Amino acid sequence: MQNKGLLIVISGFSGVGKGTVVSELLKRYPDLYSLSISTTTRAMRPGEEEGVHYFYRTREAFENMIASDSLLEFAEYNGNYYGTPKDYVLSEMESGKNVILEIEVQGALKIRQKFPEAFLIFILPPDARSLYERLIKRGTETEDVIRNRMKRALVEAEYAPYYHVCPVNDDLEKCIEETHSLIINKQKEMEERRRLLSSITEELALIVENK
Ligand code: 5GP
Repeated sequence: MQNKGLLIVISGFSGVGKGTVVSELLKRYPDLYSLSISTTTRAMRPGEEEGVHYFYRTREAFENMIASDSLLEFAEYNGNYYGTPKDYVLSEMESGKNVILEIEVQGALKIRQKFPEAFLIFILPPDARSLYERLIKRGTETEDVIRNRMKRALVEAEYAPYYHVCPVNDDLEKCIEETHSLIINKQKEMEERRRLLSSITEELALIVENK
């Protein structure tokens, strides 16, 4: 029987570099990973494209997707809906791909409840000050917006203990490869467990029959 791919959730504070880690994983290991493109009601930002960054929908269309059970999970963030389309993710996993969901913390916990085998990764900065300085250097947001992101990070930090692993993005290159190794190790461990369990189950059935 072909093993299904892993469902991988990647979260982290705004500015931690999770987007770069995800895009590098997809670029370096295109046969192993597949990215779920979310649906959102937020406005398209300059440089973004429909179907590449998100599927942009009205609130009404989004609520119809909720009603028709087309989303694996959804959450409200900053006054907008964000959700993971179900069919794409399930069919990619079925074909053996490890599907990455780059989603926020509430959605991550919903995935964990629905898919206990999902692997949850929370990328941490080496310390709070470097996260703050990274956002200041980026220069794309005002001081107020950055302070709000720090406030939100305080809340998000409460969810980090529910994740399986928390690689630190001190050195980007190291963080990308560490994240990849953590995923591969998890996949191997699950395959071994599945194999062992199936042989134990077969043997148990034989023992029970012979009684
Ligand atoms: P942004 O608007 O900056 O692209 O994303 C805002 C937040 O929404 C980010 O933390 C991002 O990871 C999260 N997000 C993106 N797609 C989804 C989704 O499908 N579900 C959930 N729960 N969060 C998402």
